[in-house]
Amino acid sequence: MSICSKPLLSLVQQRREIAHLVNAGQLMHWDKVTIMPKNGSKIRDEQKAYLIKLAHAKATSGAFKTELEKFVNLITGDVIYPNLPDHEARMLKEIWRDWHHAVALPNEFVEKLTLLDGEAYTAWESAKTQQDFKLFAPDLERRIKTAGIQANYLNPDSEPYDVLLDLHEPGMTQAQLTPLFDELKHQLKTLLKKIQTKSRPNVDFSQFDWPLDQQANFIKAVIYDLKFDLNSGYHAISAHPFETSFHPTDTRFTTRYNMKDPRPAILSSIHECGHGLYDQGLNPDWYGTPLCQAISTAMHESQSRFYEMRIGRSLAFWKHYYPLLQDHFHSNLKNISLNDFYSALNQVKPSLIRIEADEITYHMHIIIRYEIEQALMSGEIQIQELPELWNAKYTDYLEVTPSNDSDGILQDVHWSLGLFGYFPTYTLGSMYACQLYETAAADLPDLETQIQKGEFSTIREWLRTNIHQLGRARRSDELIKEITGKPVTAKPLIDYLNSKYTAIYNV
Ligand code: ZN
Repeated sequence: MSICSKPLLSLVQQRREIAHLVNAGQLMHWDKVTIMPKNGSKIRDEQKAYLIKLAHAKATSGAFKTELEKFVNLITGDVIYPNLPDHEARMLKEIWRDWHHAVALPNEFVEKLTLLDGEAYTAWESAKTQQDFKLFAPDLERRIKTAGIQANYLNPDSEPYDVLLDLHEPGMTQAQLTPLFDELKHQLKTLLKKIQTKSRPNVDFSQFDWPLDQQANFIKAVIYDLKFDLNSGYHAISAHPFETSFHPTDTRFTTRYNMKDPRPAILSSIHECGHGLYDQGLNPDWYGTPLCQAISTAMHESQSRFYEMRIGRSLAFWKHYYPLLQDHFHSNLKNISLNDFYSALNQVKPSLIRIEADEITYHMHIIIRYEIEQALMSGEIQIQELPELWNAKYTDYLEVTPSNDSDGILQDVHWSLGLFGYFPTYTLGSMYACQLYETAAADLPDLETQIQKGEFSTIREWLRTNIHQLGRARRSDELIKEITGKPVTAKPLIDYLNSKYTAIYNV
């Protein structure tokens, strides 16, 4: 049982019971995408949907409301119960936020959304296969309209797109985000132009075979060193890499292997491991409450990016691990130097596909989606203009132009699922990661030496103490300011990319 004040016991217990149901549903999903036989799919979706429905019913029940209103003004979210410690008052505010989100949408609307999700996904899939945006356009239009209605239910006083941003990154608004993204865009364009005048020796990984077992053995050694606790975690294979957690003592992630190139599996495993370390670092005493939950999508992403970018893609890391990788793939790598491998790992090449992008051009993909989402939500552009606008932005920002809708406007699934305001968290997470890294490196002056020795206990502890164990006791903007002394800026990410890539490309 948790360590909360006595009056809160019943409310916390109800939250734990809701968490049990949600986590059972998540576990069913994990099973589905890892080892479930494919014929189980239909009944599994029904089983999962039933558990989620039960969880929602509990979260919106009269019993829950009655308990919550002893402590919180249900209209404003203000805590009215006197003399609670700060973290509990904060916890109550966050419980209210969740409750408000759960009850704000009428049941008929939620049912309509679920139905629409299914239809829009199917339309997107067939439009993508047939490379024809027109087949998806009517569903997308409906999806955007319902996103606007959803925003209005949640907060009628704010601009709809700000409400959607706030769902994924509490407190974030376009007024804060646009200047950050504009600065990043401007700086990256300049850097990209310089880099494109130079070339680096490229390694053709696809000329070799990269057996799965050897890749998996190498990755196993790395995640062990990164201090992912395998007594409280599990690592598996799936078609799309992801991480999930049911409790800090049961956190799991997956890897997808490419037998023609070891880089995606290595980097994505370190990325997902970063997500896993966050969830393992949450405080289990508060399981079921916001104090045992990650702050936001962007803060979660900051932890995965911290490990992927600042550790897994660094020269210091590969000084230690390249000899080990060479041991695993001796005949493939015996004639490839550390520097050539490192350059190949960090090769910059503008492309059409977001998920294959390098560290620099990746953010252009995100900024393009952000700008288009803003224009869509504000009604500034019409649906039928989308493919053209998309292609024009790719040509302008990345100097590549899609030749069909599948590689262009239809490439991501997110909009069919109604995920508007979600893409920005990827870039925001990278900004947080770099700003946090600067402070970590100042607090731990030998951080790079430790990375070079394959020692990661101290950095895991630093992240755990400063971020993980707090749960949602702070919002991202408050925490970033508290840890780094500054509000979030684009500068640390820009500085990192500039200094790293001017060195690699000698510009
Ligand atoms: Zn991630």
